[in-house]
Amino acid sequence: MTSQSETIFDKVLRREIPAHIVYEDDFILAFRDIHPQAPVHVLVIPKKKVARFSDLEGSSVQDVGEFFKGVSRVAKELHLDGPGYRIVVNNGRDGQQTVEYLHAHILGGRGLTWPPG
Ligand code: 5GP
Repeated sequence: MTSQSETIFDKVLRREIPAHIVYEDDFILAFRDIHPQAPVHVLVIPKKKVARFSDLEGSSVQDVGEFFKGVSRVAKELHLDGPGYRIVVNNGRDGQQTVEYLHAHILGGRGLTWPPG
């Protein structure tokens, strides 16, 4: 399992640094990305910390399920269900993960191109 060092998202979760929070429940926190890549760009983190997507194998089915259900719920709250949206999870070095706290990017508000870079 990836080591769990302190990250900027731990501080967001503890309200030690400001963030524009758009949704919160018992399992997840969702807040706007500081450098948005689309008109809507929100990050969703599980409150029970996991460093990387590749560490989810060590999580319970319940925790994984609550995270993904939460991502789906946040997209709905953002009114993205109709037009559509993209979920991105960057994992590790080649995946360009820069924050070692699992997070799903929700991108929407414009037609997105494919394939990604
Ligand atoms: P990654 O590259 O790890 O998949 O995504 C990390 C994301 O976190 C980036 O899109 C970056 O813009 C965002 N980010 C980095 N620092 C902060 C911060 O302090 N606050 C917020 N809201 N987003 C951040």
